[in-house]
Amino acid sequence: MAQKKRVLITGAAGFLGSHLCDRFIREGCHVIGIDNLITGNLQNIEHLFQLEHFEFHHHDVSKFIHISGELDYILHFASPASPIDYVKIPIQTLKVGAMGTMNCLGLAKAKKARMLVASSSEVYGDPLVHPQTEEYWGNVNPVGPRGVYDEAKRYMESITMAYHNFHGVATRIARIFNTYGPRMRLNDGRVMPAFVGQVLRGENITVFGDGSQTRSFCFVDDLVEGIYRLLHSDYAMPVNIGNPDEISLLDFAKEIRQLSGERSEIVFKPLPVDDPKQRQPDINKAKQLLGWEPKIDRKEGVRITYNYFKSLPAEALYLQPKVFN
Ligand code: UDP
Repeated sequence: MAQKKRVLITGAAGFLGSHLCDRFIREGCHVIGIDNLITGNLQNIEHLFQLEHFEFHHHDVSKFIHISGELDYILHFASPASPIDYVKIPIQTLKVGAMGTMNCLGLAKAKKARMLVASSSEVYGDPLVHPQTEEYWGNVNPVGPRGVYDEAKRYMESITMAYHNFHGVATRIARIFNTYGPRMRLNDGRVMPAFVGQVLRGENITVFGDGSQTRSFCFVDDLVEGIYRLLHSDYAMPVNIGNPDEISLLDFAKEIRQLSGERSEIVFKPLPVDDPKQRQPDINKAKQLLGWEPKIDRKEGVRITYNYFKSLPAEALYLQPKVFN
């Protein structure tokens, strides 16, 4: 029997990382998860601990990473990923994108592993080109509240290309657009859990600004499929992975409101600083190179996610955002 592929996933206890662990386990791989648990949650991977081919290391990837044995793939998904996290843990956000990526690349080089990094649509900042193609260089404010994340991801791409070009490391760069689904943190401030949490608690739905800003939401299963295909491709330049189905935040709030039987009111709050006005991936590259496009429409994805949040214990609905130190 062929030897199992050995896959390292950073941010394994997080939203995307945990779904990737599931996928690679299903593909018959030996999965090594790493997480420092500042925003991750062990409950997301609880079901994997009993498996012989899953191991977990509680570790901060901004520090030197030691893994014994061979590695075939590294997926670097560790990072705070919510604007309210960036404000509370700006330095960790920068470090995991910069030093964390560098450590993973050094490990990939030493192990001759192929590495995929989770970059972000945030490299486009508040985009002046719409929809966003991979060729667009972006419009980022480096010193704004989101700058710590945006610039960490831009540096991540830069150092990844440098290791690819200079050291010949096999690398892949996914630019991930807004993704949602089960295992998001209800209290993480992202719009999907924020709105669903509000309707489940019977509170008003808080739309920031006038709600004319747009996002394009991708269901997590589609994202995982795109990542899986990109990893197995031979394309080293960045590839957008997202769902081009664009919607204004006001219309999105109305869709979520319907789920609650229209009990919640929509109220307007100030727009956060540097909140991008529009965001929609051009996914022609992913279509051509990977034969990939999203399959799950928002109606279905939102229903699955809503049911997941609804199934959580009632106290989860009232958890305050984590206080970091
Ligand atoms: N948003 C909102 N109400 C909320 C939380 C977020 O209207 O309670 C808006 C936010 O201003 C942004 C969009 O939803 O325009 C998506 O926000 P999120 O933090 O999920 O992701 P990002 O801004 O990084 O795309």
